[in-house]
Amino acid sequence: MRIYNFSAGPSMLPLPVLEKVQKGLLNYNDTGMSVMEMSHRSKPYEAINAEAEILLRELMGIPKDYDVIFIQGGASTQFEAIPLNMCKNKTADYVVTGVFAEKAAKEAVKFTDAKVIANSKDKAFTYIPEIKKGMINKNADYLHICYNNTIVGTKFASIPDSGSVPLVADFSSCILSETTDVSKFGVIYAGAQKNIAPAGVTIVIAKKGLSDNPSPACPTMLQWKTQIEQSSLYNTPPGFSTYVALEVFKWLKSIGGVKAIEKINKDKAKMLYDFIDNSKFYNNKVEKKNRSIMNVPFVSPSEELDNKFVSEAIKNGLIALKGHRLVGGMRASIYNAMPVDGIKKLIEFMKDFEKNNK
Ligand code: PMP
Repeated sequence: MRIYNFSAGPSMLPLPVLEKVQKGLLNYNDTGMSVMEMSHRSKPYEAINAEAEILLRELMGIPKDYDVIFIQGGASTQFEAIPLNMCKNKTADYVVTGVFAEKAAKEAVKFTDAKVIANSKDKAFTYIPEIKKGMINKNADYLHICYNNTIVGTKFASIPDSGSVPLVADFSSCILSETTDVSKFGVIYAGAQKNIAPAGVTIVIAKKGLSDNPSPACPTMLQWKTQIEQSSLYNTPPGFSTYVALEVFKWLKSIGGVKAIEKINKDKAKMLYDFIDNSKFYNNKVEKKNRSIMNVPFVSPSEELDNKFVSEAIKNGLIALKGHRLVGGMRASIYNAMPVDGIKKLIEFMKDFEKNNK
């Protein structure tokens, strides 16, 4: 039996994708082997690698003057790679809206003159600070933001205007969840383990020219240029994860693409937020205009009840609802693969729990 997994990542994958992957697990496309066993220099793998890029470009509407690479190391490695690849003036601006944005800024300090121009720590990251053009250093190599903050459940209400300074955004927990104008960004990067694939592959989408002059200290493996020139095959890629990513892209296309999933995601999030807002028992502390449609944190009236909620939910087939240790309470991560029925079942459970514990 499949359960509803509300984990923030690694997270649920679409069932049709898992079934397809299972079918081809021992013998992929009559090659007589699994993709896991396949050389990355083989024709079938080269086809997977190439098609994954083509489909991601199509789904996100990535303009031609952007490179796309599928690499290893997770989003965290990009916290270091970004300042090492984009270091013309050796100065960069950061907006700190949560734990991962803070980690990114802390890594950058090691390699560039990284300045935090706005921070929402004063209110436990429950809002996104306003970014005005005047706040951004005109000489900055880039402005870094985390577009969706997985732990606190916030999201930028709109793309900040960074003028001529390239906007670099961590999309780990929101990539492919709604339509995005890629041309407004210099770089978008994301780990795959939420909306795309099992952990392993990380995606970097970078406007051509931004990483032409990496720092001389930048390790070869961290240089985007290295992987761009070799179509993501400079060294052994995370092949199986990239293959599942391709199958997820095909699935997403088959259901109508990002536009279609955006509608489903917004409907799912609205159902849950509406229920929370109409309840006197549950509460979401995030400023309404900055609410994430992927990660929905909430609390009950006490920590004791929160703990009880999480353990009783498990018995009802609703798992991984415990909030991040830094925030407490509960968090429902409702990525692309979470079916509407999962939200309905969660709300039913929330109603029953409230009735029994008021
Ligand atoms: N950024 C965000 C927004 C995240 O949610 C995460 C992981 N949860 C990371 C970065 C770190 O990703 P990774 O584990 O792939 O390094």
